[in-house]
Amino acid sequence: PEYKKKKQQNESVQVVVRCRPMNTQEIEGGYEKVVDMWSNRGVIEISNPKEDVKEPKKIFTFDAVYDWNSKQCELYDDMVRPLVCSVLDGFNGTIFAYGQTGTGKTYTMEGSKELAESKGVIPNSFDQIFSHISRTENKQYLIRSSYLEIYQEEIRDLLDKDQSKRYELRENPDSGVYVKNLQSYICKNVKEIEQVMQNGNHNRTIGATNMNEHSSRSHAIFIITIEMSDVRDDNTMSQVRVGKLNLVDLAGSERQSKTGATGKRLKEASKINLSLSALGNVISALVDGKNIHVPYRDSKLTRLLQDSLGGNSKTLMIANIGPASYNYEESLTTLRYANRAK
Ligand code: ADP
Ligand code: MG
Repeated sequence: PEYKKKKQQNESVQVVVRCRPMNTQEIEGGYEKVVDMWSNRGVIEISNPKEDVKEPKKIFTFDAVYDWNSKQCELYDDMVRPLVCSVLDGFNGTIFAYGQTGTGKTYTMEGSKELAESKGVIPNSFDQIFSHISRTENKQYLIRSSYLEIYQEEIRDLLDKDQSKRYELRENPDSGVYVKNLQSYICKNVKEIEQVMQNGNHNRTIGATNMNEHSSRSHAIFIITIEMSDVRDDNTMSQVRVGKLNLVDLAGSERQSKTGATGKRLKEASKINLSLSALGNVISALVDGKNIHVPYRDSKLTRLLQDSLGGNSKTLMIANIGPASYNYEESLTTLRYANRAK
């Protein structure tokens, strides 16, 4: 009952957990599954695989949970579609994919290209936005998109061919916090915005010697800005409203100490953890509600997204985990992070 109350008060922040299926190596390796999920109740249980540890299962409740059988479209229709609807009404919205590397953040956000049914959040949002526009009479829309990356607290424009340039955050009273000189492209249809995403993904690989390693250490943010105004009967236009949708594939949340990082690596690792913990602090302050000070300024990520976190904005945190025993510690850490965000 107490949980229900909390949820109703804080509809603007939703937290869900998604667990990917066992992969071939895990099945062939004979790893035990340590996760149980009750989708109808939003409950997830995780048990410690260590045989000498006799402790009860740990139980968590979220706004929703999606198990290994869940389809991309279920997550989209339940959680993402309503958020994008509100962006199409002129509010801001942010969707985060959080979790250890290899748990399905990119699968959730982008999907895999081979199958249409495995399209992820980002391409599905393109479809939703442009089909809404084509169905809506008496309104005019302008869609722009940007794509950036935060790597070691430095901002890169993924739509700029020159990936050596660094970009700065600026703030002004009218537009709030923004990235100075960040490119944005006007997109008139799904094809055009897909092209923008592909260009960004392509540029992202250019500077990276090891793409997997790079993507596990950087936050990628696809931003869709939707300007809209009503066309009145006398053909005049109403004031313009703006909704912004931020789609964020976060850096891997794995503890870096495990990887034996030293020197430059360790410094990099502490910056990754800094922005993820800053994000956790901001979201838990927002959910808490009583907390008047929301620590947006603690990282580039939270500063940049300041006007899309809290207030009238909607936030969806998708925490991704793997089901296998050897991921137990990291999965538990992710569930605790997500639980604190709720
Ligand atoms: P991350 O971005 O968190 O590092 P990925 O999205 O790259 O992880 O996922 C790792 C692998 O697991 C990929 O091969 C991906 O296709 C697969 N995968 C992840 N989630 C799912 C899922 N829900 N269903 C099927 N395959 C998945
Ligand atoms: Mg990824």
